[in-house]
Amino acid sequence: MKKTNQKLKQAIIILLIPSVVIIMFFIISISNTKQETSAPSSTPATVTQPKTETQTPETQTTPEDIQPTSSYTSLTIDPDRCRGCGRCVAIDPEHFEMSGNVAQVISETNLDSQSLSSAISACPADVINLS
Ligand code: SF4
Repeated sequence: MKKTNQKLKQAIIILLIPSVVIIMFFIISISNTKQETSAPSSTPATVTQPKTETQTPETQTTPEDIQPTSSYTSLTIDPDRCRGCGRCVAIDPEHFEMSGNVAQVISETNLDSQSLSSAISACPADVINLS
């Protein structure tokens, strides 16, 4: 009788151990399946970002770009009173040159220049008119 009980116990153990192993395998595989379905997908959701308009650099006007507009529009020399000393030409060759014995105006641009102002001041006959 004891031998029968021992064999029965051995048979139960032999059958029970693989059954427990198989049940554990199923439990583990089922839990893994649930985790895969409930877990967020590994690929991030595509986020559509709002389109930003391509910003072209606008031409911005800086203070350096602003050329001062001259308040003067006319530069003349009274040739009848010019002494022909040549000071104006020496000081400001941008605006004056000698023509024979008198100076003449060759440019009426950049009338706010410092050299023009100096030439006008240096004229001994005071015949250079800037208006
Ligand atoms: S400085 Fe006066 S006087 Fe002398 S050349 Fe010039 S315009 Fe004539």
